[in-house]
Amino acid sequence: MTKFVYMFNEGNSNMRDLLGGKGANLAEMTNIGLPVPYGFTITTQACNDYYDNGKKISKEVESQIEEALAKLEEKTGKKLGDTENPLLVSVRSGSVFSMPGMMDTVLNLGMNDQTVEAVAKLTDNPRFAYDSYRRFIQMFSDVVLQIDVYYFEHLLEHTRTQKGYTADPEMTADDWKEMIDGYKKIVKKHAKQDFPQDPKTQLFLAINAVFDSWNNQRAIVYRRLNKIPDHLGTAVNIQSMVFGNMGDDSGTGVAFTRNPSTGERVLYGEYLINAQGEDVVAGIRTPHPIQVLAKDMPEVYRQFVKTSQLLEEHYQDMQDIEFTVERGKLFLLQTRNGKRTAQAAIRIAVEMVKEGILDKETALLRVDPDQLNQLLHRRIDESAEKKLLAKGLPASPGAATGQVVFDADEAEQLSKEGKKVILVRPETTPDDIHGIVASQAVVTSRGGMTSHAAVVARGMGKACICGCEAMKIDLKAKQFSVGDTVVRYGDVITIDGSTGEVMLGEVPMIEPELSGEFKTLLEWADEARDLGVRANADNPVDAKKSLEFGADGIGLCRTEHMFMDIKRVPIVQEMILAETLEEREKALDKLLPMQQGDFEGIFEEMAGHPVTIRLLDPPMHEFLPDKEELLVEVTKLQITAPDSEELKEKEYLLKKVQHLAEFNPMLGHRGCRLGMIFPEIYEMQVKAIFYATAAVQQKGIQVQPEIMIPLVGHMNELKRMRKLVNDVAKQVMEEKGLSFHYTVGTMIEIPRAALTADQIAEEADFFSFGTNDLTQTTFGFSRDDAEGKFLQQYIEQKVLPENPFAVLDQEGVGKLIETGVNLGRQTKPGLKTGICGEHGGEKSSIEFCYKTGLNYVSCSPYRVPLARLAAAQATI
Ligand code: PEP
Ligand code: MG
Repeated sequence: MTKFVYMFNEGNSNMRDLLGGKGANLAEMTNIGLPVPYGFTITTQACNDYYDNGKKISKEVESQIEEALAKLEEKTGKKLGDTENPLLVSVRSGSVFSMPGMMDTVLNLGMNDQTVEAVAKLTDNPRFAYDSYRRFIQMFSDVVLQIDVYYFEHLLEHTRTQKGYTADPEMTADDWKEMIDGYKKIVKKHAKQDFPQDPKTQLFLAINAVFDSWNNQRAIVYRRLNKIPDHLGTAVNIQSMVFGNMGDDSGTGVAFTRNPSTGERVLYGEYLINAQGEDVVAGIRTPHPIQVLAKDMPEVYRQFVKTSQLLEEHYQDMQDIEFTVERGKLFLLQTRNGKRTAQAAIRIAVEMVKEGILDKETALLRVDPDQLNQLLHRRIDESAEKKLLAKGLPASPGAATGQVVFDADEAEQLSKEGKKVILVRPETTPDDIHGIVASQAVVTSRGGMTSHAAVVARGMGKACICGCEAMKIDLKAKQFSVGDTVVRYGDVITIDGSTGEVMLGEVPMIEPELSGEFKTLLEWADEARDLGVRANADNPVDAKKSLEFGADGIGLCRTEHMFMDIKRVPIVQEMILAETLEEREKALDKLLPMQQGDFEGIFEEMAGHPVTIRLLDPPMHEFLPDKEELLVEVTKLQITAPDSEELKEKEYLLKKVQHLAEFNPMLGHRGCRLGMIFPEIYEMQVKAIFYATAAVQQKGIQVQPEIMIPLVGHMNELKRMRKLVNDVAKQVMEEKGLSFHYTVGTMIEIPRAALTADQIAEEADFFSFGTNDLTQTTFGFSRDDAEGKFLQQYIEQKVLPENPFAVLDQEGVGKLIETGVNLGRQTKPGLKTGICGEHGGEKSSIEFCYKTGLNYVSCSPYRVPLARLAAAQATI
């Protein structure tokens, strides 16, 4: 005979499939001897039986429920429908996977015209009894009899107004009694029957209704969205009600076994004497700290402390416990792993290892890597008031306050004057770098999570919001508007890059602090992980930060950022505009020592750790002035100074800019295609790298340069570029009379490169997957436009599960990575592989990289701690 009903002491936490999550947990608590209000669980199998039986509870299930009820009555000494000591129960759904609020619940079941009087007498609180009864009528009518709650609420509202009350607490016992009569009339009218007075009828109707709610519209939709199979069914939990409002020896509260904000090992919570759970939540009365319970009810407090320790040890995690004291007797209503801040999560995990509760590996799994962001950046004080203006994409975490500026030069100027500014632009380009450096944060109205502004800001650890489309920016008028609100140049705003919120005025913030526990946890992560973690850094300051944050090396040094320096841009432009090779070489000769200096700085900081340097990548016109702006200037000059030298220069520049412009610059003359057509540019860069290698090596500091060629699609490209590097290396070694070690590798950013990785590997010492471009080229989505134009809707409409520029698309882009790694290693078994796109700092992508056999991930310095932890979690 199938067992369809389990008393709480018959189950355990491994029986989720049969008892549902809640039932299994209640059984577990009962079994470890905790005072849980007694009850029983009707299994998910009974739910399926109900449906198989044409939506009827079978005789077998019915008799098992009757039997369980009898046991419950015996154990509690109360009886359903008894006119002196009535049993009241809650009837709750409980599926295998949590489906919060999707299915139905009925509380206070067992109330009727007689039992309500008994409850009034027992509690010495008629007001509470009548209020509970009318709530039960409303809930039961809604869930079981399908009467719209509107009718009940409307009547209540009407009565309150008539009596001149503003809120429910003003209602007296007699008022509630009157409401009960009214409610019953509503039931009679809409259900064409009297409100059922027989508690057993109530019980079976409620069980039917909970089973039915498995297939209500919202539950079906929820299951579809969360991929929960329809055949699982829901369990039903019948549990005796306990009341915390039976007098001064009763109460109710919530407590955490450790402080959820700081992690400190103290009982942390609050409670109210003579109250029900709702009173705590509704904020009608101010609760006392849990420690006051020690004075009010010392014995109960002692028991609660003991119980909470037991629960923590049992679940090996900090618990969030709901409890009720009914006439001096403690009951636990729920326990679950408590939500906590990042700081608390770390402290609890580390201390639990020291207390012998957890091993290091489990402790590492207890902290969500994403939470670490909170600790590495300044953040908005949650308790502060804020005036929200607009919301964009949370592109780079952290909070900042400053005066609004709309131009990079102005940002630089004002910051030199000691002002804090926030750069607001429709979008940023490499031209704006100096402005970003000078600003506290960046906000753009266009562009997504891998747009220029986002990548650069993340690299610098600066807060950034992208694609804030509600902001209408008027660069000419130096203002932006959101609806009717206009924010002008110099006005103060605050932004939160972790949420994407733009706020008016200054909002208080909290500074980041790295605790000793945080460092300890990351040291454990390093011991556990088999996946390397490098940083994307392209200057000595970031290099230093990377090491401080525990990076194993630099995985991507984007050399174009060195070309953006305000003093260098004219020389870079000279190089681009050169008509002849000689002219270009003259400009390159000027750039060479500058680049060499950059590399020396980075090599010295990295003190022997590997540094992957990528040769120039973006299309050249990114270094030239904006075409539209030039056109305006030329037109003006044609009127005001038609014969001037300046006009001639500008006209020449415009011609050049027009000549270099491309329809699809991201698919255009960029990456190694630059080195193929203008090898002298790459030669200069490689020379600078090797001169720097020689110079730093001579100081006795080890250097490990790894030269990386971007955007390779065909092995012949890499073959030529590798020869170029080798030739320059030979030349420098001869010139300097010394030798040094270096490697040459490539980025895999084009599907063809991944698909022909066996050929490409012949020429490569390492692969680094540039998943920003690889995502762009695989989906055919522009990384700069897609998010603002359609990607957000794609995600909202669940066409895509996530933004593929933030979370690696494992099925598509991931398959190319896997193919690339496997083919590459067919040719070279020990081929070193890594990833340096933005995904290198995202936890699910990091796990994928580990599983696919990559050797390292590389991400912005501020994400290195997150990546260390995520790498450890992937390895464990
Ligand atoms: C990439 O494409 O993933 C990459 C790291 O290079 P970038 O973002 O500079 O194009
Ligand atoms: Mg790229």
